[in-house]
Amino acid sequence: MRIGVYVCHCGSNIAGTVRVSEVAEFARSLPNVTIARDYLYMCSEPGLELVKSDITEFNLDRIVIAACSPAMHQATFMNEAERVGLNPYCLERANIREQCSWVHADSDTATQKARDLLAAAVVKASLASVSAAAAASPMPDDFRVSITNPPGKGAYPIASFTWLLIPTQIQDADKREAIKEFLDWMLTSGQRYCEGLGYAKLPMELVSKEMKAIALIR
Ligand code: SF4
Repeated sequence: MRIGVYVCHCGSNIAGTVRVSEVAEFARSLPNVTIARDYLYMCSEPGLELVKSDITEFNLDRIVIAACSPAMHQATFMNEAERVGLNPYCLERANIREQCSWVHADSDTATQKARDLLAAAVVKASLASVSAAAAASPMPDDFRVSITNPPGKGAYPIASFTWLLIPTQIQDADKREAIKEFLDWMLTSGQRYCEGLGYAKLPMELVSKEMKAIALIR
């Protein structure tokens, strides 16, 4: 994924409160961000040209515009993106004007909120961002863990594992072996079917931990 991020000043509407160059600098540290810029008026002719030339030059496949509400200029940005071959639905907006600079007088608060809104717009729900969420939190020995709001920058915040409750002792030997065999397949060769079915792959460290737990089933 190659993401371009554009942080608009809107004259002093945004830049009067939000430290826009700091927000653009922050965007450069986010996963998959190829380029991040701040600009005086993103919806102006030169602003739109800047976005379009970046899409072409850097082969961007997503853009995030941090500016006014999507109620304004959503069609403008989508149409311009489409003109240079980008799917217009690969455009995300972070509303750092109506939801941020216009409702906060304090510069530190507004800048922090703009960073948070931007980070949320950059990290999309995807199989990769859900896998990143799974890898971000250490798994305890009893497998009781929540991966909601994980710490990693590329980790999607609304993610969860799918759980299987399996007895540690199974009297019926045939049933026990069949279950262990199925679990082994699920964690090894079965992982290759995950993405096609819309599930994120498990991190390797977690798979090896689960394999050790399965070996203990008697
Ligand atoms: S894109 Fe929106 S926020 Fe930026 S200059 Fe235009 S109206 Fe203002």
